Amino acid sequence: MQRDRQNRFAGGAMDTELRFVVDMNVGRLAKWLRVMGYDTLFPKENGDNRLVRIALREDRVLVTRDAGIAQRRAALIGQMTVALIEKDDLRSQLGQLVRDLGLNLSGGFSRCVLCNEPLRPIAKGDVAERLPPYVLLTQTKFLECQVCRRVYWPGTHWTNMMSELSQVYREVS
Ligand SMILES: [Zn+2]
Repeated sequence: MQRDRQNRFAGGAMDTELRFVVDMNVGRLAKWLRVMGYDTLFPKENGDNRLVRIALREDRVLVTRDAGIAQRRAALIGQMTVALIEKDDLRSQLGQLVRDLGLNLSGGFSRCVLCNEPLRPIAKGDVAERLPPYVLLTQTKFLECQVCRRVYWPGTHWTNMMSELSQVYREVS
């Protein structure tokens, strides 16, 4: 299975099944991977060993800037996939993940950026009390996180994030 996955990476094929665990040294990527719909853990106290354990146990790609982790035996023999991030700026970092792992946006905006929880559709009437009047007037579709109860809707914030991601894809292609 590991070999299949690496072949798919090599071919740049799309893969929506990937899951991630993100190191603190590239913490901003965790939010963006969740925005793109990918199941992404971001342990508060991480430490190399903990990250490696999670990656191995849950078959997650470990995203880090720590070259030492990429040199671990588990990574070298292909038990664990490490995405070793090269650049400093966020857009280049996202671009590297998109290019190397064939990330796509088919599951975009389906996951809570705070909790990593899949969002569920919720009726306007059920969230009305929690939303500003302007949003109620202008939006019709709402999604809710079952864990933190945060409500999402396709407003300006989503549009801005989408255009940021489109920019990343343009630079990669
Ligand atoms: Zn949440």
